[in-house]
Amino acid sequence: MSTLFIGLGHMGAPMAVLHARTFPTVVFDLSDEAVARVVGDGAATAVDDPAAAAPDVDTVILMLPTSRHVESILRGESGLFARLPEGALVIDMGSSEPESTRALAAEAAERAIDYVDAPVSGGVPKAVSGELAIMVGGGADAVARAMPHLEVLGSSIQHVGPAGAGDAAKALNNLVSASNIAVASEALSMAARFGIDPAVMTDVLNAATGRSQATELKFPRYILTGTFDSGFAYDLMLKDMTIAMGLSEGLETPVVRAAFERLRTGRTSLGDVPDHTEIGRLYGLGDRPTSDRPTSDRPTSDNEKEISA
Ligand code: NAD
Repeated sequence: MSTLFIGLGHMGAPMAVLHARTFPTVVFDLSDEAVARVVGDGAATAVDDPAAAAPDVDTVILMLPTSRHVESILRGESGLFARLPEGALVIDMGSSEPESTRALAAEAAERAIDYVDAPVSGGVPKAVSGELAIMVGGGADAVARAMPHLEVLGSSIQHVGPAGAGDAAKALNNLVSASNIAVASEALSMAARFGIDPAVMTDVLNAATGRSQATELKFPRYILTGTFDSGFAYDLMLKDMTIAMGLSEGLETPVVRAAFERLRTGRTSLGDVPDHTEIGRLYGLGDRPTSDRPTSDRPTSDNEKEISA
């Protein structure tokens, strides 16, 4: 029996490669190019039809963009729920909607299939190194079964509650993470107008209490350099913020709501598939590098601290 890994994009590709080095793994993606990149590593094998492969797998790992993609893979006559053997385990590692996850976990249980949500943080570099932070939702037995797979992919694995709780925690993390970028971008704009180079101001924040993972890594590496190539799409970030704001009903959350509205309405001024670090662009950051500090002083994949996409 093997693991079926579906969704080989920015995150799924390096995760599938790592997974396949420890567990027998078959992979599927709608994009042939994405499949070729993973299979080229030599450890995983491609399947053409996940439904046909399902009876021979005991574990499914999904790394798809949204809950709609997850639902369409699992439900229906040719969906995996109808094809997987009893006792199989499904681990959804994308950033999905808690309500959808709860419903899918209940449907899985009716078919004696275990279901775990295990979304991740750390971006492409941590997916490559197997050091993702993983927030897990699900029953204790299902989570225990998922653990050996998660340990290959992450260095921090936190079981935060029942099905859907991992997704809720992940969305809230990204609400904070994206708001941090917006807040720091506004502070850097104010610094620039005062005459302080944004790169210098970033160094100030990083030596003081205003620092965050965004100021330590994303500003020096992706925003002030104008590369905007973190590999985490702006639209996926907005999806996560929308999920998080769905958890705010009845609560006083004016600060994060303002950040969400700013980033939601700002989307129209960006291109077709902007990177989430293009939040900085909404404030004119990165249009041209703001510091003549040599690139070697800036964080690289070797010395970076952590990315929390
Ligand atoms: P991506 O768009 O790069 O990759 C998604 C992949 O899914 C693509 O290769 C696409 O072809 C494939 N796909 C879509 N529908 C499919 C289907 N029906 N069958 C098979 N394959 C299908 O997305 P990503 O950046 O890798 O993100 C994946 C998930 O992880 C999202 O939920 C995202 O929010 C989350 N996430 C992303 C990052 C990041 O830094 N990129 C970090 C943490 C979490």
